[in-house]
Amino acid sequence: MNNIEAEKLVVAPVERKDGTYALRLCITHGRITAGMMKTVMKTMEEFNLPFLRSTTGQRMNLEGIPADRVDEVIASLGTAAGKIPPGVAACAGAGICKYGMQESGEMADRLLALIKQNGPYPSKVKSGVSGCKMACAHSFVRDIGMIGGPKGWDVHFGGSSRKDAVPGVKLGSGLGMDDALELVGKALVFYRENGNKRERSSAMLRRLGTEALLNALG
Ligand code: SF4
Repeated sequence: MNNIEAEKLVVAPVERKDGTYALRLCITHGRITAGMMKTVMKTMEEFNLPFLRSTTGQRMNLEGIPADRVDEVIASLGTAAGKIPPGVAACAGAGICKYGMQESGEMADRLLALIKQNGPYPSKVKSGVSGCKMACAHSFVRDIGMIGGPKGWDVHFGGSSRKDAVPGVKLGSGLGMDDALELVGKALVFYRENGNKRERSSAMLRRLGTEALLNALG
């Protein structure tokens, strides 16, 4: 991978309480290349921006942009404002972490592609890929949670970390990557076809019952 040529950043403006804006930099699974850092640093220096803040979803917010300079900052990053794409949070995984049972990076890449392919959905789909049951990517409380074990992947669906916090329903256990993703694909289709507008997956399961999902998956 060429880490010096900056890949194009997907950015979205977010209004702040004090009237300034942040730009959400929609990076993939928290990975930042040297090229991206160079581009962002140059912009921060040019516009005297105070800081870059990491989000809980493994993205970055470029903070403190005056409202009348948002367009200039976006142009300086060499991109255009866009809709925030779905994101997948991934832990270090077996390739890096001594506790890891499964490799998180490839699973996160394939899961993100699958989520994009099956959308749009009634509401946000937040996902977490964790290489073991410590679940550092908060996989038990995401809409989609993948958790590595000694024999393969456990698949959870419909979790929430909000005020109605609930772990996702376990759809499968000890699965190979292809089988785990096939199961997620079916659950996403069920959500797309049965969720009400703006209804998160956890709320849909509360309304319809988990049996409805399990029956649909066969
Ligand atoms: S979930 Fe497990 S494999 Fe992933 S970073 Fe945490 S301890 Fe390591």
